[in-house]
Amino acid sequence: MFNKKIGIDLGTANTLVFVSKKGIVLNEPTVVAVTLDDNRILAVGNEAKQMIGRTPDSIVASRPMKDGVIADYKMVQAMLRYFINKAGGRIRLFRPEVMVSVPAGITSTERRAVVDAIIHAGAKSAYIVKEPVLAAIGAGIPINTASGNMIIDIGGGTSEVAVISLGGIVSCASARVGGNKIDQAVGEYIRKKHNLAVGDKTAEDIKIALGSALPVVEDQEDSMDIRGRDLITGLPKTIHITSNEITEAIYDQLREIIQTVKKVLQETPPELAADVIDKGMVLSGGGALLRNLDQLISKAIGVPCYVADEPLLCVAKGTGITLDNLELYKRAVLSKR
Ligand code: ADP
Ligand code: MG
Repeated sequence: MFNKKIGIDLGTANTLVFVSKKGIVLNEPTVVAVTLDDNRILAVGNEAKQMIGRTPDSIVASRPMKDGVIADYKMVQAMLRYFINKAGGRIRLFRPEVMVSVPAGITSTERRAVVDAIIHAGAKSAYIVKEPVLAAIGAGIPINTASGNMIIDIGGGTSEVAVISLGGIVSCASARVGGNKIDQAVGEYIRKKHNLAVGDKTAEDIKIALGSALPVVEDQEDSMDIRGRDLITGLPKTIHITSNEITEAIYDQLREIIQTVKKVLQETPPELAADVIDKGMVLSGGGALLRNLDQLISKAIGVPCYVADEPLLCVAKGTGITLDNLELYKRAVLSKR
């Protein structure tokens, strides 16, 4: 209580806040509502998302994290301040220690900006850790051993693949493919094949309800009716869609993720690659919840693949574990102030 520790998973799609001894206290979309003319911040998180589409055209949704990088500092700073204050509670006698996850490809300038934002938000100290490392820790992988461990984190904007050994990243790559691109592929397919326009949100709902990385035998297929606008008549229309159609629609995106996994394995020193082959690869992030994705990757790479427990929570849990064991994970911390 005297030493408050806060961990923040600053994701492209969702931001999660972990408070020590409490667990995950906040899980909100990474969205900021701003005024169009002077870029003023009106709301953050759930509140911002709810404003979208229900306000005059002069208010727009801004997603300050794009493709796994910080697209807008000012917004990210505002968000961090909002989340740190919200998690800090009413009585702020003691300034918290704050850890934030950042994309593995972050530049040193961006890293400094995040540290500044944390300190300005009232933190006593700021720790920056790369997202795949936190995902691995949160997935329960013993990253401090002298052995190669592969984590594949599939978020909204990017998929990050990393091999970790002795507490640090040995090889990694990031693909600008994640849940959002997969949703777009679903929308595109429905537009082309069924002449139906569906929004991004509907495309995501369809992916979650029906999506499978591998085709299923026909009599076990799921299917659903979806509504949208007929591209020819411009009128509402309902069509029927099956899970195997979604599998076909998202194949190219999944292949890109697999290519990234292959690339990382090729760049991994042979001893560590052998460890990965023995132990398998671990999937985290919301994208890991796509049905049969573990099987598809296992088949394509020839190495076993497992989905972490609660994949959406791995990074946030990782911040909690790391904050409570800073000495043990000191090699994982990129910057500290
Ligand atoms: P980020 O770290 O980039 O914020 P998350 O790890 O929170 O991303 O994952 C968000 C992504 O996970 C979204 O694109 C969402 O559509 C996807 N997702 C969530 N649940 C499922 C599911 N059951 N099946 C497939 N994708 C899912
Ligand atoms: Mg993430």
